[in-house]
Amino acid sequence: MKVKILFIFIPMALLSMSCAEKPAQKPNIIFIMSDDHAYQAIGAYGSVRNQTPNIDRLAEQGMRYDRAFVSNSICAPSRAVAITGKFSHLNSVKDNRDAFDGSQQTLPKILQANGYQTAVMGKWHLKTEPTGFDYWKVLPGQGDYYQPKFKTPQGVVTEQGYVTDLITDFAIDFLDSLRDTSKPFMLMYHHKAPHREWWPSMENLEAYKDKPVPEPPTLFDDYEGRGAAARDAEMRIAEHMGLSSDNKIHPDIVNKHNYHEFMTWYQPVHLKQYASLTPEEKKKWDAVYGPINADFDAKNPTGDTLTRWKYQRYMQDYLGVINSIDSNVGRLMDYLEKNGLAENTLVIYTSDQGFYLGEHGWFDKRFMYEESFRTPLIMRWPEKIKPGQTNTDLVQNIDFAPTILAAAGIEAPEDMQGKSMLPLFKGKNDDWRDALYYHYYEFPSIHMVKRHFGVRTDRYKLIHFYYDIDEWELYDLEKDPQELKNVYNDPAYTEIKADLHKKLQELRAQYKDSDELTQKMLKDDLARMKKK
Ligand code: CA
Repeated sequence: MKVKILFIFIPMALLSMSCAEKPAQKPNIIFIMSDDHAYQAIGAYGSVRNQTPNIDRLAEQGMRYDRAFVSNSICAPSRAVAITGKFSHLNSVKDNRDAFDGSQQTLPKILQANGYQTAVMGKWHLKTEPTGFDYWKVLPGQGDYYQPKFKTPQGVVTEQGYVTDLITDFAIDFLDSLRDTSKPFMLMYHHKAPHREWWPSMENLEAYKDKPVPEPPTLFDDYEGRGAAARDAEMRIAEHMGLSSDNKIHPDIVNKHNYHEFMTWYQPVHLKQYASLTPEEKKKWDAVYGPINADFDAKNPTGDTLTRWKYQRYMQDYLGVINSIDSNVGRLMDYLEKNGLAENTLVIYTSDQGFYLGEHGWFDKRFMYEESFRTPLIMRWPEKIKPGQTNTDLVQNIDFAPTILAAAGIEAPEDMQGKSMLPLFKGKNDDWRDALYYHYYEFPSIHMVKRHFGVRTDRYKLIHFYYDIDEWELYDLEKDPQELKNVYNDPAYTEIKADLHKKLQELRAQYKDSDELTQKMLKDDLARMKKK
């Protein structure tokens, strides 16, 4: 009998000891980044244009950040910031033409060294191959919508299907069969969508047909009250959106209307997407866009009527593409639920920057004006974040890497420039920042948005446009939330202007940016342009 009792008690004692000594399980991380997804096109952010029930569910179950910003509003640089926690001037990618230095310290490498398994699926856009990832399957460059090619460590493969569905398949494949279940993981699930030229999936070709969306009040902005940068930017729906390449109208009609169509380098992008449809998809596509073309021919809109028509067409495609992101985010969340991964996984939904949905007459991004400077940011982590919260602190994409490291219980290296957002989960924000720094470099280039840097506080924004001009702009966001009136030379703002200049200098010193560094980067750019 004594022996029998021992058999029962010893294993129980061992079990209780192992429970007491077992450290808390590290959370998994799923970092979802879409490309050019404007907060104005997310239900949880009050969209008047569309519904996004799955992304909204993340917000209902977690925290929505209403003042989340990027540091350089363009694709590749935002990705480099996300994995380094550093501004563009220190992470090797200041514009879409730079190649990422993969030998530097990155978030996935630090996680790997601390027992995490890491994977990146989808858009990468950093030119050099991913480093610090156990698994990766990424789009070459911008990638294609239909039957896209993917780069893998084993070489390039062409996949059959729609890009947003495929990236989700690969993300689920990683969770389901590739990962080591004894380790926590970080999955970077990066969508190409809804990047230009907005080609929807077959299921969403007609999702917004006959559903006119409201026009923004500044669709016909005359740029009065701002400087040369806003006037000279080439991203107006009226003049720079390609009827053929963007709005998918037959090229021989477009040539009458749009100078972009004469730019032979641009045209193939449109033709390539159409050419990549399967015969069955082509039939479906023609059945939807054929009547649109015929209607356009019959009406032959011009002037403001044409701009309105292009805006509606733009929205129909853009929002249709977002439908796929939303349903696929739902698919991934369902997988987490079904597999017991939902509770201890920090899910982050964001975009690489914001986007203009007709505000100021524009599409595209790049500017430090609100629509492109801001980005959607939602975090869900049932173990640490109470459901249904919102936050209005000034957070920025430099904070992503330090936040993920803090969630994993890892101290961030001192040279990372962002801050952990973990204290904000509990609403504590006494020690938070009071201003944000921004610097954009890609000029001269597509869309011709001039180089600029600036500072944004709770209420004001100061911007300096440089290189081929020397102009300052100051906006009072409380009185002028649409940023229509530059008050830099208004005597009523003399003191505020001086304070903002001081703050800008402080931030440049804090983040190690300087005129000398800017000059050096300019020189490097000019040398590169000459080489070409
Ligand atoms: Ca982008």
